[in-house]
Amino acid sequence: MALREIVKLGDEVLRMKAKEVIDFNGNLSVLIDDMFDTMFKADGVGLAAPQVGITRRICVVSVDGGKTKYELVNPVILKQSGIQRGAEGCLSCPNRSGIVARPKKLTVKAQDRTGEYKTYKVDGFTAVAFCHEMDHLDGVLFIDKIEPEDK
Ligand SMILES: [Zn+2]
Repeated sequence: MALREIVKLGDEVLRMKAKEVIDFNGNLSVLIDDMFDTMFKADGVGLAAPQVGITRRICVVSVDGGKTKYELVNPVILKQSGIQRGAEGCLSCPNRSGIVARPKKLTVKAQDRTGEYKTYKVDGFTAVAFCHEMDHLDGVLFIDKIEPEDK
């Protein structure tokens, strides 16, 4: 187990567009394990690679304390529907929270650490976490999306 340092708001890496993962090697596997460790240690439900200073399209999500663990490499939203509003926070933006609108249901295609493609259908808070983390891969933060009346 190895913990990585979580990059905080103000660091330009959080605003960069992450690059696609091409090499599915041991380094990727170590990074994904470290990201899960770092996320759980920080009591988070999701973490994206740019948040540990790596501009690659990788994120991890677990909203139930590790019972269900999602590793998303090069994730793409195939379908989305509905709308839900809820309070969000971010490990990179300490002491910030606000209401953000997200899709209610999501179908996402992503690779795993071996490069295998998988499709995930998620809803509720898991869908929120997927969207939040995938935004990080494009340099978008939840504070950009907080509803005006809640700013
Ligand atoms: Zn975040």
